[in-house]
Amino acid sequence: MSAIYLDYAATTPLDPRVLKTMLPVFQDLFGNPSSVHRYGQQAETVLEQARRSLAGNLGADPEEIIFTSCGTESDNLALRGSAFAARENRGADHILIPPLEHHAVLHTAQQLAKFFGFNLEFLPVDRYGRTTADDVKQKIQPQTAVVSVMYANNEIGTLNPVAEIAEVCQQVGIPFHTDAVQAAAHLPINTAELLVDMLSLGAHKFYGPKGVGALYIRSGTPLIPVQTGGSQEFGLRAATENLPLIIGMTEAFNYQQVEYPNREGHSIRLREKLIEQILQSIPEVTLTGHREERLPNHASFAFRDTDSNLLVSLLDARGIACSSGSACKTGNPEPSRILEELGFSSRWTSGSLRITIGKDTTDEEIDQLISLLPETVAEARELS
Ligand code: PLP
Repeated sequence: MSAIYLDYAATTPLDPRVLKTMLPVFQDLFGNPSSVHRYGQQAETVLEQARRSLAGNLGADPEEIIFTSCGTESDNLALRGSAFAARENRGADHILIPPLEHHAVLHTAQQLAKFFGFNLEFLPVDRYGRTTADDVKQKIQPQTAVVSVMYANNEIGTLNPVAEIAEVCQQVGIPFHTDAVQAAAHLPINTAELLVDMLSLGAHKFYGPKGVGALYIRSGTPLIPVQTGGSQEFGLRAATENLPLIIGMTEAFNYQQVEYPNREGHSIRLREKLIEQILQSIPEVTLTGHREERLPNHASFAFRDTDSNLLVSLLDARGIACSSGSACKTGNPEPSRILEELGFSSRWTSGSLRITIGKDTTDEEIDQLISLLPETVAEARELS
């Protein structure tokens, strides 16, 4: 077990306050919210309270919230559901996304293209991984079924101008989805201000439980359900709701929205220390993603001629858990597709490192990483 955890973009530990709220729900509120009797009614009351709480924190109406099993499912429902509805209602078959989307969006869009005949077009990205409203304006067309641009990139931390992009889509009446799975842990998420039509959340990124997420769907946005069956979740997501996890997510999001302003300063201070010290103390390293327009807790780098999976393993052996942010396997390093898309040469694309800070990360932990990293990179380079 690593002594220092710095991989909060992968997942976060469950907040003990959230666990405490969830535990009695497992035991006492076992009723099916769709049942007519008192057990069902009790469960339904709590379910709807949770929906109101999450909606309130998102600046949304309760009937605009669909509970799902994770961020991935929310992305799937948003993309597939709106693509199918757009084709059914207005014959639209064009999907617009940047190539840097999480696989939950990218692979879904690719499958819609390969097996369902949609025409997938990639939006441009600049060298920091950003897509602008102007980029969307250039590419959007009446045939566009849905546009999806992530709020914050999981691998390089860059933020996209989501509200500006949403405005462009709104002007031409095309549905716009944003994957806010990373952003929700660190930024205010207000759907009225962001102007988005759909927004995905996953609880385990903001100290909630794994196995639960939500999709915000602006009222009136056409959507065809992907998981068919019963009429739960306004007929948009069939399955008996997982009440304990839903309660856990809404509670965790409540804490997140109240506490993020206090966490932000702490995260940014540690992030800046990391960036400055690492760029100074290690040769042939570059920051990836945008210097300022990035998640407050996120520092990501590329090291030249380095196998990032080896680097992550060597750091783990020294007691520090980070991530490459890409799908490398030791001995068979796969380059980062994100760095490839950003135009990095092959000497850099296998050397990505992502360090993500949590709400309880200390200065001592960051100092320890900063002091161990130069020798660890040198060792990884020697062995690469
Ligand atoms: N979208 C982004 C940007 C993510 O970072 C992740 C998880 O890493 C997901 C979607 C998938 O979320 P989940 O693990 O809740 O399915």
